[in-house]
Parts: sequence; C-alpha cells; structure tokens
Amino acid sequence: MRRLRKAKIVATLGPASSTKEAIQALFEAGADVFRFNFSHGSHQDHQARCDFVRQIERSSGRPIAILADLQGPKLRVGQFAEGKITLADGAPFVLDRDPTPGDIQRVCLPHPELFEVITAGQSLLLDDGKLRLEVLSSDGNSIRTRVINGGVLSDRKGVNVPDVVLPIPALTEKDRRDLSFALEMGADWIALSFVQRPEDVLEARALVAGRACILAKLEKPAALDRLEEIVAVSDAIMVARGDLGVELPPERVPGVQKRILRVCRQHGKPIVIATQMLESMITAPVPTRAEASDVASAIYDGADAVMLSAESASGAYPLQAVQIMDRIISEVERDPLFRSMIDAQHQVALPNKGDAICAALREVTQIVGAVATVTYTSSGHTSLRAARERPIAPILSITPKLATARQLALVWGVHSTVSAEVHDVDTMVAAACHTALSEGFAKVGEQIAITAGMPFGQPGSTNLLRIAEIWPR
Ligand code: PGA
Ligand code: MN
Repeated sequence: MRRLRKAKIVATLGPASSTKEAIQALFEAGADVFRFNFSHGSHQDHQARCDFVRQIERSSGRPIAILADLQGPKLRVGQFAEGKITLADGAPFVLDRDPTPGDIQRVCLPHPELFEVITAGQSLLLDDGKLRLEVLSSDGNSIRTRVINGGVLSDRKGVNVPDVVLPIPALTEKDRRDLSFALEMGADWIALSFVQRPEDVLEARALVAGRACILAKLEKPAALDRLEEIVAVSDAIMVARGDLGVELPPERVPGVQKRILRVCRQHGKPIVIATQMLESMITAPVPTRAEASDVASAIYDGADAVMLSAESASGAYPLQAVQIMDRIISEVERDPLFRSMIDAQHQVALPNKGDAICAALREVTQIVGAVATVTYTSSGHTSLRAARERPIAPILSITPKLATARQLALVWGVHSTVSAEVHDVDTMVAAACHTALSEGFAKVGEQIAITAGMPFGQPGSTNLLRIAEIWPR
C-alpha cells in the first residue's frame, strides 16, 4: 500500500476512535501516525489501542508510528466548595497554598514554585484563557489578583502563566510513570508538553535512553526565546497552537508558526502543525473554508505533518476529518504553485557529507528523471536529510530496523520499508531496485537514485550515490 502524498497525517486516538475497526478505517483513510494523549485515558486504554495499531501494521505491512504525548506540567487551580464560582470583572481574587476548598474570594493553587516567581503586573490565565487575572502582589504564600476578564471558574481548571519561565521540571511524577509505560508499550515518539528550555528535552532524552525519538511541543512563549537550541536538541517539533494561543494573543500565533517552521526546515527537523486544524468537524461532517485553508497553508509552507486532536479522538466525524485532511494535502501537492513555493524555500545543504550527498541526490533525480530516491538508513538519518531537500520524487527509505521505519512515518515524503541488512553495494542496488518495483515506485526500464552510507549501518556515514535502472526480474 502506497500513499500518493508527501505530507503526513497525525490522528489522535480517543473514545471516538478506539475499536480496531475505527483505527483501521482512520489508517486506510490516511492516518500515518497515531497520537496517544496521556492527558486522558488509562494505561489500559492506551495498551488496547496500541495492540490494535500493531495488528493493523502487521496485516497492512506498513510501518505505523505511535506518538505518546505526555501531559507535562499543566498547572491547575484546586477545587471549590460549590464546584464552581463566577468571578466578576474588577473583583479581587486570591490564589494561595491552603488546600481548603475555594470560594468567591480565594482558591488553592497547588504549585508552590509559582509563588516565588510571579510578580505584580503579570497575568494569570484560567480555563484556556477564558478568564484573566492581573497579579497585584505575591508574597510566597498567596497571590493577590484583580479580575480583568471574569466568568465561571470550576474545579481543577487549567492555569497559564505566559510571562514567566516556570522553575518546574519538564516531567511531572505522572509524566515519568506515563513515560516508562509508553516505552514499555513500544511508542516510537515521545511528545513533551510545555517545553521551556533545551535542558527539558535533554532531561527526557536521558530517561528515554534511545528507546524512542523525542518531539518537543512548543506551547510556551519562553520556548521561543531559545527556539534554535530547542530545535537542535529535539528530533521533531510540534506547533501546539492550543496552549500557545492561550499564552500568546491569537494574532501572534500565525507568525510564530511560520517562524518555528522556518527554523525546523533549516535544521531538517520534522515539524507537526497541531490543534484546531479542522475544529468545527468535532460536530460537523465538513470543515469550514477557513479550516481547509489553514491545513493547506501548512502544507504550502512545507510542514511534515498536520494533526487532528479532538476531531479524531472525541468528535462525531473522525473518519471524515482524516479523509478531508488527506484530500486537502493531496490537492495542494498537485498544485504547480506548491512545487514553486517548496523550491523557493529550498534549504541550502549544510557543509557535511550527508547533506552534500542528499543535495546531489535531489539534483541527479531531477536531471535523469529518476522516479524515486532510495535511502538506505539504519538510524533514519539519511532519510531525514533526504527529506530536508524536499525532492519531487518520493523517498523510498529502506532500513533493517523496524523502529526506524516506524519513526520515519512522521517524515515528509518518506515511504519507509524494512528489509534485511545488506553488506555490499551490489546487493544494496539489487535490493533497492527490487523494493522500488515491489512497492510500486518504479517500473521496468525506469531509473532510481540510491544513497547509502559505507560502511553500512554506521549512522552519519552517508557517502554513496548510485543511479540504477530497473531490470525485469
Ligand atoms: P494538548 O497539546 O492537546 O496536549 O494541549 C496541543 C496544544 O496545546 O495545541
Ligand atoms: Mn497543549
């Protein structure tokens, strides 16, 4: 089975997409990566979905990536005696460390670290930014505020503090438990929420210890101050527009999205655009024109993947959401303007062997009219660098490692396959031709361009480029 588009679709699984049949339908409609949201559901729920994904993978013969998304240090208020209160504009309100249920005057904020760093004039946003409080003072035990935008506030609603680099670790106790479970389950990607610093990524990387790739979700303004460094230490990036759009005014989100995209493209790191892409499809079978345009713009900009959250996890039309996403991407990629826009953003090769070979691969492919570029990879590195070139011909990635093949399901233009290890160039060329033919990428008489690293199996050794013609077998 071969997809005829380059950009990928990430679909979040949830109550609306938990049976094997539902997941299978999403996969067949175009989902390349399944996101497991550890903010919701039990480990048992995740394990059951994981088992279904792996069954579907086996029966389809296509590697599928599982992205385990850790909740991260999401701040929340405590509980109220009455379950909820209504805050009036201009009213005083206090957040303190007293666990007694709250009322109209005060509530507990069970995050002691915050009291030390917040200062007068800063904002506290509650319930996805629906309510805004201005800080008047903080003394280590209580934060006195004035209500700027009032409204209903109920138990355990989220708190965002946009103006502050929070002195809290990137992984909570829950995250650590979820992480070890996700690794045990065999997740291919670990998504870290509320990343603020490159150290957050490095801390997680030490725990993951090579068992999965790491995707940093950018949803804190503080992360933007250290964007280059965070991109450099991450394996992929997500523009998490949900929380980002709470912490930043909405008019700033599009520019930030494009800035993050550009940095990721320069580094050749996969980038996922996420949240509210087809939001209205949670309750409607068709998207709005603006949503279709949002998905299309991300593709024209060269994003690796676009993501569905509630649309596929808990909405009424998960399948339709994947189908329309697939149609939008395919339509954009057929547009001649798409190619000229991608070429206009073409990234100059960085001065290393792998990038030089991949730049040549792109050129050679175009000059001789090769129908596919074949990348031999162990770690996935060569396929990633080939994808950074955004070639016209598809990237057929061959790896002996199933884990690598799965991880590459997130990457632009890459069709990944698993094949036995090769030890010499002739076997490699023969295997590349065979795979291109059997996977439907080339016909007899057509040419493919192949790249690999010698000696085989050594990451970062990309140094070989071959053109081969497909012969009848
Ligand atoms: P979430 O992340 O769905 O885990 O909050 C995505 C976002 O904030 O956009
Ligand atoms: Mn978020």
